[in-house]
Amino acid sequence: MTAPKVPEVVLSSSSGQRKMPVIGLGTAPEAISKVTTKDAVLEAIKQGYRHFDAAAAYGVEQSVGEAISEALKLGLISSRDELFVTSKLWVTDNHPELIVPALKKSLRTLQLEYLDLILIHWPITTKPGEVKYPIEVSEIVEFDMKGVWTSLEECQKLGLTKAIGASNFSIKKLEKLLSFATIPPAVNQVEVNLGWQQQKLRAFCKEKGIIVTAFSPLRKGASRGANLVMDNDILKELADAHGKTIAQICLRWLYEQGLTFVVKSYDKERMNQNLQIFDWSLTKDDYKKISEIHQERLIKGPTKPLLDDLWDEE
Ligand code: NAP
Repeated sequence: MTAPKVPEVVLSSSSGQRKMPVIGLGTAPEAISKVTTKDAVLEAIKQGYRHFDAAAAYGVEQSVGEAISEALKLGLISSRDELFVTSKLWVTDNHPELIVPALKKSLRTLQLEYLDLILIHWPITTKPGEVKYPIEVSEIVEFDMKGVWTSLEECQKLGLTKAIGASNFSIKKLEKLLSFATIPPAVNQVEVNLGWQQQKLRAFCKEKGIIVTAFSPLRKGASRGANLVMDNDILKELADAHGKTIAQICLRWLYEQGLTFVVKSYDKERMNQNLQIFDWSLTKDDYKKISEIHQERLIKGPTKPLLDDLWDEE
């Protein structure tokens, strides 16, 4: 199949009005994956992916960087500027004085001169140190949102990143952020899928010009148990009627909502399948069925035990 033309959205608060391709390849590690991140990213570039979602905590920045160097060597892309690369700061670096050094470290590991987008991975701070997952609640200290954001603004001004954003921020936290930001967040990356549609948060972000990037768009997350969308009989019927897969229905719905999304597949076929969603549409009747899907958050938080107030009861 030929590489489809992937639509893009403009990040309004970015330097130079950077454009983000609506679909990105997720790179969060999975124990079951047999394909390496380097091979997966290289294959994705061959297939037409131009947007990659990494994070310091995923331990994949080096492999993503190696794949980009290889793609340049092979002539698959003529310049790094053709790619949109996101990374995220881990909670151990959510201290104002650690932000610039942490971003510089990510850039060195990725062998890049700049990122397209850097996100605060979680609105939580722990003592500086090694990445631990899940986060021990006893290690949490106060999250200085204003100090951290001011340092991120500095990163954009220094040209270390084209855009800055948040991840896992509730409306309440975004409101606080917007109250002092001189560069508003370009993106809020949060869980959105057919089983957790996030209407309110999306409406708020739209009003404020913040692009929403959906993570776990197939609701796979860390859980490999029963899946509210991938095992959903109604969605199976709907997929059969369109001659598509359930995954494609999930991604097409996100696209029709005006969202961007990061989906992870390291499998050649499924990676390609996930790109084939731009030349057909869902019907009114499909939307009626989709509105009946039970809603429940999948990713409840990165801590052990879970925090009561992480989502501000939204
Ligand atoms: P996901 O993309 O919803 O699901 C990934 C799983 O679905 C993989 O096991 C993959 O297996 C499978 N898959 C992919 N395409 C498929 C298809 N067409 N048919 C059937 N199965 C398919 O979940 P995710 O990895 O949790 O989320 C995606 C990305 O979002 C992550 O990799 C990460 O970059 C980001 N994320 C961010 C946060 C945050 O806090 N900001 C949290 C979670 C995730 P195969 O590889 O075998 O195809």
